[in-house]
Amino acid sequence: ATPTALMVGTGRGAQLGILIKGPEVLETTRAVDTIVLDKTGTVTTGRMTLLAVRTAEGVTEDEVLRLAGALENASEHPVARAVAAGAAERVGTLPAPEDFANVPGLGVQGVVEGHAVLVGREKLLGDWAMELTPELAAAKQEAERAGRTAIAVAWDGEARAVLEVADAVKDTSAEAVRRLRALGLTPILLTGDNRTVAEAVAAEVGIDEVVAEVMPEDKVDVVRRLQSEGRSVAMVGDGVNDAAALATADLGLAMGTGTDAAIEAGDLTLVRGDLNAAADAIRLSRRTLGTIR
Ligand code: ADP
Ligand code: MG
Repeated sequence: ATPTALMVGTGRGAQLGILIKGPEVLETTRAVDTIVLDKTGTVTTGRMTLLAVRTAEGVTEDEVLRLAGALENASEHPVARAVAAGAAERVGTLPAPEDFANVPGLGVQGVVEGHAVLVGREKLLGDWAMELTPELAAAKQEAERAGRTAIAVAWDGEARAVLEVADAVKDTSAEAVRRLRALGLTPILLTGDNRTVAEAVAAEVGIDEVVAEVMPEDKVDVVRRLQSEGRSVAMVGDGVNDAAALATADLGLAMGTGTDAAIEAGDLTLVRGDLNAAADAIRLSRRTLGTIR
């Protein structure tokens, strides 16, 4: 393509809400055949809500919300914001944790009012040699089959509750997936969330391939594996967790509504956070480079 065509293409991209880092990006955009989509914040809104609290015997919802809410109040994760907001609504002002640590891809841990508290995936409890009671494990399964993320809460060495949180699929996601398929791309859903939840979301938007329960640092390996199969891979993401995968993908598309880390790592920014702009970008590149039928 001529420099003029690339400039025109870049300008047209800006009109469509697609910020392109450099003219050469249009060339890689044209070539991609696989598109990996992060779940939370990319396919879904990322605005999660706390929907239910399931407690173990002898435990009250209020004490669960007070301790879990206090810890999550110190985290920026979408799950954490949902738990903290739901807790504050129910129990009022939350205490400040005496100790706090974020465990990426797993949850949070710390000390609240003298209790050693864990909030996060079942695996986080497992790392501390704790497990869900049979009742809580059943509650977790039930939540996940309904497409909700189940968050375990433990303190002082025992599992105490399961929190159910969920966010909605963006109303533009299913249409965007259809358009990406029509352009010949294979969509793959990638998430750190539970497999059952991921499959429920994938089914809702029309994606057949799901890679779930992936640790943040392993998302980049999923991209590399696809590349080693000879695929040309686009990755769409919004989180700090997605930055390495966005940088490694042949084409990184960052949600403009996402984190600065993702935007810096991407080749393209989808300003409005609408996945349809990913399909627009592919069409635009093919058109600019003269391969559209
Ligand atoms: P995604 O890949 O969907 O953007 P993450 O890798 O950030 O998600 O997190 C994976 C999973 O770890 C979440 O679905 C949640 O179950 C758990 N998790 C992560 N951070 C927290 C937190 N602060 N509180 C509770 N659970 C968390
Ligand atoms: Mg995300």
